[in-house]
Amino acid sequence: MHELSVCLSLMQQVEQIAVEKNARRVTRIVLNIGPLSGVEPELLRHAYPLAAADTVAAEAELVMKSADIVVRCSQCNAESKATANRLLCAACGDFRTRVISGDELTLMSVELDTA
Ligand SMILES: [Zn+2]
Repeated sequence: MHELSVCLSLMQQVEQIAVEKNARRVTRIVLNIGPLSGVEPELLRHAYPLAAADTVAAEAELVMKSADIVVRCSQCNAESKATANRLLCAACGDFRTRVISGDELTLMSVELDTA
């Protein structure tokens, strides 16, 4: 399952942060998921407890936010927001655009319990 390996690599990042900050527990993890990242938030939510079991983040709340898709137009060079099934330039309407944001999964923030 793709989402499980995504979760596992995420856990490595989270555990590293927890170790650096001397945290005992991770209480909250906020992710920004690009609609073009290929990650299905619902599957990620199911995979998360498997990946987080027996880690510092076992009881952390997982918050998933949907990132914007941003494209750059190859014709007028404008940057504009787009939707996954309509990657058009908002300035001139051309379809020859390049996705510059929206295809990544980003760890936005981690809340730690250092008490
Ligand atoms: Zn354009």
